Amino acid sequence: MAMSQPEKTPWYVWYCLLLGFLWNCLLFLFLSTTFAEKLKTGFVITGWTLIFSLALYIYCIRCYRKNRLRGKAARAVMRWGGIGLTLFVAFLFIPFNLNPSPALSGRNHLRRLDSREQAGSSLYVQAEGVLPDDEITLTIFDICLGGISNKTRRDGPINPEKMDIKDISVLTSYIKNQAAGLKAGLVGITRLDQAHVFTANHKGQTINLPHEYAIVLGVDLPYQLALPSAPLPWREFYTSLPEEIAAILADKTPMSGTDVVPPEELEKIKETMRFFSEGGRSAVELARHIRSLGYEARAHYSRWSEVQIIPLAQSAGLGELGRNGLLLTQKYGPRASFSVVTTNMPLVVDKPVDLGLQAFCTSCEKCAYACPVKAVPLGAPKEERGVVKWVTDGQRCFDYLLGNPKCLACIGSCPFNKPDLLLHRVATYMATRNNIITNNILLLLDNFLGYGDMQPYQPDRPA
Ligand code: SF4
Ligand code: SF4
Repeated sequence: MAMSQPEKTPWYVWYCLLLGFLWNCLLFLFLSTTFAEKLKTGFVITGWTLIFSLALYIYCIRCYRKNRLRGKAARAVMRWGGIGLTLFVAFLFIPFNLNPSPALSGRNHLRRLDSREQAGSSLYVQAEGVLPDDEITLTIFDICLGGISNKTRRDGPINPEKMDIKDISVLTSYIKNQAAGLKAGLVGITRLDQAHVFTANHKGQTINLPHEYAIVLGVDLPYQLALPSAPLPWREFYTSLPEEIAAILADKTPMSGTDVVPPEELEKIKETMRFFSEGGRSAVELARHIRSLGYEARAHYSRWSEVQIIPLAQSAGLGELGRNGLLLTQKYGPRASFSVVTTNMPLVVDKPVDLGLQAFCTSCEKCAYACPVKAVPLGAPKEERGVVKWVTDGQRCFDYLLGNPKCLACIGSCPFNKPDLLLHRVATYMATRNNIITNNILLLLDNFLGYGDMQPYQPDRPA
């Protein structure tokens, strides 16, 4: 009597097994990430989903082995379900955005800005002559006022013996390596478009900056300091400022005067302050090094910068301008802080990039809803001074920040403000695919897992 041959397992069964395995791996990645980030809601939801999904996976395998799930309908579901799912996932990688590209990059064609047109410039003028020299004061000045650095560090003597340049691309790599060694995680070079040089500084002095190149340096604000729930008592911190600075800020800032900041909180604040001055310090050091090679170089950072830093960072290919007025970078999201060195040293320039992050902003308005004073616009970008972009209300933001310096809501709420974990790298990569379905799935997941939950979402906020 002939023995019946065991039925060969069809390809689509193996394929569904593989898909199920990958799906559970993805869920496990979600689970471990939400655990690492202490996202309670996300952890519970993904935990239960994983348990349910694993149970179903094992149940289906057992059913198949017991010769169930072998009927015509089950086979059709496996075959066409597997193919359909694969096509859908493949589609998520393909650029598909019905919203017109915002095309935000551009050049200021109309006129150069006077730095006194920036919100809060009067504060810098008042700060003139206040020059205590301890580190924390320096740091406060660097972040808030830039006074000391502006006077003593940004520029300096140039070595009369100019270094011979044999190969500009080798020199460019060398300069970028130097910048990276000075803690700049992002480095880009662009031509210095005079449209991005201010006409005058905060005191009304004319700015003359004939340098041809701008080296843009970006450092990362640690996620722990920018995450939505970081409870830094910045207002109280004002009470521990050096008297001279506190006096300047006092008439602008409602200070409690009685609160005592716990030492560990104070350390966190100082760390943040140091971070903000770190980029400036890197620029100062790099400019000094370039001058030692016999070329002109000047450092620009903080509010005393003679150039518009964000447009230069964009031209240097470090990221794209987001709805919140910050540069969205692939590596640090909106957390990068930039400084610039302008120079006449010949260098190879970088090109602006189209990462798709800007297009993501057309679907996402989280920062606009999170901003407590509605300084971040909803809706489509508008043209301002020859450039189509989302224009944040700088004065409104500045006025609010004087009383609430911890407000980082437009950073904390941003889906690109994430720690450097595998899941987030994958999500950012997917966002760069510029697919409206992908973007909306990412946004849903972001809200679902509890990221960027700065305050209750207000979808009915008036425009
Ligand atoms: S810092 Fe605060 S007030 Fe200013 S734009 Fe961002 S969210 Fe709005
Ligand atoms: S929160 Fe959303 S809209 Fe705002 S900058 Fe980030 S991605 Fe763009």
